[in-house]
Amino acid sequence: MIRDTELLDQLIDTISRFVRERLIPNEARLAEDDAVPPELLEEMKEMGLFGLSIPEEYGGLGLTMEEEALVAMEIGKTSPAFRSVFGTNNGIGAQGILIDGTPEQKAKYVPRLATGELLSSFCLTEPDSGSDAASLRTTAVRDGDHYVLNGTKRYITNGPEADVFTVMARTDPANKGAGGISAFIVDGDAPGLKRGPSDKKMGQKGAHTCDIIFEDCRVPAENIIGGEEGKGFKTAMKVLDRGRLHISAVCVGVAERLVEESLNYAIERKQFGVPLADHQLIQAMLADSKTEAYAGRTMVLDAARRKDDGENVSTLASCCKLFCAEMVGRVADRAVQVHGGAGYMAEYAVERFYRDVRLFRIYEGTTQIQQVVIARNMVREAN
Ligand SMILES: Cc1cc2nc3c(=O)[nH]c(=O)nc-3n(C[C@H](O)[C@H](O)[C@H](O)COP(=O)(O)OP(=O)(O)OC[C@H]3O[C@@H](n4cnc5c(N)ncnc54)[C@H](O)[C@@H]3O)c2cc1C
Repeated sequence: MIRDTELLDQLIDTISRFVRERLIPNEARLAEDDAVPPELLEEMKEMGLFGLSIPEEYGGLGLTMEEEALVAMEIGKTSPAFRSVFGTNNGIGAQGILIDGTPEQKAKYVPRLATGELLSSFCLTEPDSGSDAASLRTTAVRDGDHYVLNGTKRYITNGPEADVFTVMARTDPANKGAGGISAFIVDGDAPGLKRGPSDKKMGQKGAHTCDIIFEDCRVPAENIIGGEEGKGFKTAMKVLDRGRLHISAVCVGVAERLVEESLNYAIERKQFGVPLADHQLIQAMLADSKTEAYAGRTMVLDAARRKDDGENVSTLASCCKLFCAEMVGRVADRAVQVHGGAGYMAEYAVERFYRDVRLFRIYEGTTQIQQVVIARNMVREAN
């Protein structure tokens, strides 16, 4: 749903200019320094990027899912690590509090997440529980007016920097499944919260992950999301539904950027006396990538509109994540091929994107888990 076409066009225009004039020229620096330049971080805050999907009453822009998808497609046209910094505040880091938090929890945290004053993270994955997230082992034991958390969370995006964490932990040891899990808001300076060293990753340099370790970490009982035990896994799944559409939209944006990079290179470079773009086998790669990016754009916008209309889009969000994450992998692979040897060299953006996009098939539910979710829902609906 687009509430005001003119306003949205202006926003997309502004973001598009920011991506073109400020972020793209700093992509190599981002990768080399493995850090978002501080001045760009400030500009992102000023533009309201930390609060894109946070409702206006909490100081955000309150974008609908369709509007957010269109914006994410623009942001996708540059290194995904730039998005990662503010993406968690709009997505997995804040949505748990927004969707299921008490009014007090929302009032305390959400306005500061919307401005970027607080950076947030989402802690679900553990060393022994990834795709099988419901088997997580981190415990939260009630002790007076606190809970005491013990356990380790793995590969936590923004973990080294985050001020606040949404943490899924088991409050009912007798219930080994999803029903025994609760979600907590944990402040970054909570006693007993430790951060492991930054992980060395394949790509997306500038976006950091690390272990988050809880050793007798005391969290006020009022920080249990929604004020009730046993709802945490459902909260996490609702958060991921929105997140999957957002990530899919980012994949579309990256794919469109790679199509543009491939086309420009194919027009510029000559072999056999003509531009690469005149060779039909190169044209086939360009056409396949263009078609797949367009298919991704169309399906993400359709699912986003349906979500705005109140439809349950759990299956469709997984369809989008499955297709778009795989699609951008194929597009990145062709982009390297169109560039030939240059595509293997670090000075060309496609080499970096080729490594960056690999992550999309892994986090927020792997490709196989999307397949499992889609088929499980299909079978359930047929019975
Ligand atoms: C850079 C990065 C950032 C991340 N950020 C976060 C974050 O902020 N917060 C967070 O909580 N997590 C985060 N993660 C974790 C991520 O969500 C998990 O890595 C992902 O869910 C997969 O879990 P796993 O790594 O344990 O793989 P596994 O679950 O061990 O999977 C290994 C392989 O087995 C397949 N597989 C597993 N189960 C099945 C099945 N039933 N059927 C078929 N195939 C199956 C998987 O698809 C995969 O191919 C991040 C990961 C990375 C790499």
